[in-house]
Amino acid sequence: MVTAYIGLGSNLADPRSQLLTAFDELARLANGRLLAASSLYRSAPLGPAEQPDYLNAVAALETGLAPLALLAELQAIEAAHQRVRGERWGPRTLDLDLLLYGDQRLDLPTLKVPHPGLYERNFVLYPLAEIAPGLAIPGLGALGELLARCERGSLAVVEKAIHGRPHAPD
Ligand code: ATP
Ligand code: CA
Ligand code: CA
Repeated sequence: MVTAYIGLGSNLADPRSQLLTAFDELARLANGRLLAASSLYRSAPLGPAEQPDYLNAVAALETGLAPLALLAELQAIEAAHQRVRGERWGPRTLDLDLLLYGDQRLDLPTLKVPHPGLYERNFVLYPLAEIAPGLAIPGLGALGELLARCERGSLAVVEKAIHGRPHAPD
């Protein structure tokens, strides 16, 4: 079994329920279990600015699936959320990026791990540090070092994780 980290993002069609449903779907994947889910974070869109803000989060999975099999499962979950591929970085109901797969580095046409944007994206690094503060990123060094170089900017926690699951304030 390997620990994999998944980055979740949504800015269409009730992003909060998109992400909460996605956590459940990740938990139900064959051959593994959900180890942790970060808080939900609001972030400004990357790329085209004329789109709603995003909600982002990170999940830790223990998985027995091989990397490409896991990517295929992530894409099947995106498809089940009616994700339509439009312009690059355009709005979407659900984006699931495979951020890390154990300590492996992969440079395949369809799968690059660690995810190429990971080292500089606040909406990835902050939720990742919340659930795995001591992590070392293959080829990139300590997560804490990356975090220290990454502005928090307007990134805001909108729903705190309690017992490893996002939880709305009462
Ligand atoms: P970004 O990858 O910069 O966050 P994006 O998430 O909007 O952009 P997508 O349109 O979701 O990009 O994905 C484009 C392709 O990226 C996918 O078809 C997939 O094969 C490829 N890809 C490469 N590495 C990864 C990875 N680590 N996780 C998910 N997809 C990946
Ligand atoms: Ca992405
Ligand atoms: Ca993606």
